[in-house]
Formats: sequence, C-alpha cells, structure tokens
Amino acid sequence: MDKIYLDHAATTPVGTEVINAMLPFMSQVYGNTSSLHSFGQEAKTAVERTRDQIAAHINARPEEIVFTGGGTESNNWAIKGVALARKDKGNHIITSTIEHHAVLEVCGFMERQGLDITYLPVDEFGFVDPGDVKKAITDRTILISVMHANNEIGTIEPIAEIGAIAKNHGVYFHTDAVQTFGHCPIDVEKLNVDLLSACAHKLCGPKGAGLLYIRKGTRIEPFLHGGDQERRLRASTLNVPGIIGMGKAAEIALAEIGSESLRLTALRDRLIEGLLSSIEDSRLNGHPARRLAGNANISIAYIEGEAMLLSLDMQGIAASTGSACTSASMEPSHVLSAIGLPHELAHGSLRFSMGRSTTHQEIERVIDVLPSIVNKLRSVSPQYRRRA
Ligand SMILES: *Cc1c(COP(=O)(O)O)cnc(C)c1O
Repeated sequence: MDKIYLDHAATTPVGTEVINAMLPFMSQVYGNTSSLHSFGQEAKTAVERTRDQIAAHINARPEEIVFTGGGTESNNWAIKGVALARKDKGNHIITSTIEHHAVLEVCGFMERQGLDITYLPVDEFGFVDPGDVKKAITDRTILISVMHANNEIGTIEPIAEIGAIAKNHGVYFHTDAVQTFGHCPIDVEKLNVDLLSACAHKLCGPKGAGLLYIRKGTRIEPFLHGGDQERRLRASTLNVPGIIGMGKAAEIALAEIGSESLRLTALRDRLIEGLLSSIEDSRLNGHPARRLAGNANISIAYIEGEAMLLSLDMQGIAASTGSACTSASMEPSHVLSAIGLPHELAHGSLRFSMGRSTTHQEIERVIDVLPSIVNKLRSVSPQYRRRA
C-alpha cells in the first residue's frame, strides 16, 4: 500500500527538477560568491539571476530581496531588526494571537527586553480585524506583524487592508508569507507590505533556504554580522544550492499557480464535505472559502487528535494535529484556542494539508478510512458515552 502524505504545511518533498537544478551548484559551480575568480563569479551570476526572478515574482526590486536560512530566521530578523533600528521612534509592536511560533516567541523575547507587544485577538474564523489594528496604533508603534495565511487553519488574512492602515500611520508592516509564497499570487505593492518572510521548503524546495523582502528605505539592523554578503545586511557565505533550489521551486510553483490552486481547492472541499457528512459532531476550523487551497482542519468531538493521527499513520496516512511544532506537547494549539474552540474540541483536531503530489484517490481513501477510526476510538471513549 502506498503511503499518503497530507502534511505539506509542515514540509514538502523536493521536486526532481529542483534537485537537478541544485546539483551542479554543489560539485561543479561550487565557488564562494564573494570570490573574484571565475568559480565565485559563476556562482554569483546564478544567485543574482535567481534574485531577479524571485523579485519579479513578488513585484519587488532585486535589491529588496535578501536570502536567509529560512522562514524562522526571516521572521526573527524582521522583528528584532526593526526594533533595534527604530528605538528612537518607539518600542511598541502589534501582532496577532495566531502567528507562527517563529513570530510569537520572538515577540515574547522582545517583551522581556522591554518592548510593548499588543497581541490582537481574532474572530471565530481566525480573521484579524483591520479596525482593531488601527485602534491599537500609538505614536510609539514601530511595527505591525500579521501573517498572510495561517499554517494551522489556513485562514487568509486581510493583509492589503492592514497594510494600507500601517502605511497611513507611517508604521512598518511585516507579513509572514511562508504558507502563501508559491501558493497564492504575492504582490508586495498590492499587499502594502514593507517586510515579507518566505521560505523554500513549503513549496517543494530545499530546507534551510528563505528570504526576507525589505522595501527600499526601510530601516532595519543587520541580523548576522560578519562578511560583506547581502550588502552587509546578512553575513555568511551564501547557500548557493539552496538559493538556486528556492528559485526553481518558485518558478515551477508560479507557472502552475492558477491550475494547482483550483485542483487543490476541489480536493480540499471534497475532503471537508466527505468527512463532515460521514462523521457526526465534527466541524471545520477556519473560514470555508477564504482559506489556503490545500488546507483542511477539522475537529472531531470526544476523541483525541493524537489517537486519530496514530491510527491514520498505521494505515499509511500522514496528517497533523495543529502545527507540527506543538504536536509533541499537550497544550491545545494556540490558534484553535484563539478562535474560541473549547479545549476538548481543540484536542480532537486534525490538519490535512495537500500539495503537488496529492491525488483524488488519496483523498477518497482518507474519507473511506477516517470514519471507522473515529467509530473505533469513540467506542472506547468515556467522553463519548457521557455525551449529552
Ligand atoms: C513553516 C513556517 C515557518 C517556519 O519556516 P522555516 O523555514 O521552517 O523556519 C514560519 N511561518 C509559517 C507560517 C510557517 O508555516
């Protein structure tokens, strides 16, 4: 039986074309981009070509793209770098309660360094209200950070509206676009963002490669100090194979973005409909329509997500409870808590995230298999027996 991978929001397999594009940059074009000889210059030319391409994809200028070691680094840098550079203006940052840990933990750290952080609540679907953002801005506010789409429940946030408010108030706006880069069209002008984080491994690119878009004129301190790389904004020898791989993955993803998004939306909606109609006391988390094409997050009452996950795994189906980073802890997901889900329901949640390799047959198999897993687990569940 072939295994079924429905955890693309955690990471994705690297595509063959991507691997083939990367390979020469490990053993043939292996020069250091800082070297003046032809080995270095050949690598540098390829990196700059990729920078041009990626900049064009998101309607930015090449000099506004800085390559990083991934989404976590980009988020850390955006927040810490602006906080340090704008100390003169203020010490207040606005974010939301449903950000990825790579934003929330950074904000927690900055709070301990003396910054004021406002964590905006979200509604039942996981939307941040742009009106709340406006109300939270003070003359000490230096940065607003709200994610483009949530990695757990798939909700796509009103980034353009929030960005317009930030712009009107002269406050920098950062968005974590790790889940949308290569999946939804991104135009930094239309989104009104000053800083945007993305990485390669959520779109069939390699792990450990990412980028931070920094709008020209934005004041930000460098993240890594050392050599002259990346116009002294981010020292360290460039990860040339990783950058080339990210470029190739983005190129492939963008060439098919419309058709792939339609295909995944149909699979997603079939999965949601198939599961909700065959499992009683189940519900969808996040908004039914304004959500990532490949994301289905459902809660199933009276049983534990972990138990379902393990039963599915025994049938060769890989999904996730909440976000991969928290699956090992017993705290309910902060995102599911933020949308007001009671703890019992939050604990019975599963995230299926689809990607390029996902087929119709795989979705039908999940719809086939999960209801009987649920019945079996409920038959031994005291909560199920005690239900009203
Ligand atoms: C995966 C993810 C990250 C972390 O990116 P890495 O490249 O794994 O460090 C950050 N934000 C979101 C929304 C993510 O889904």
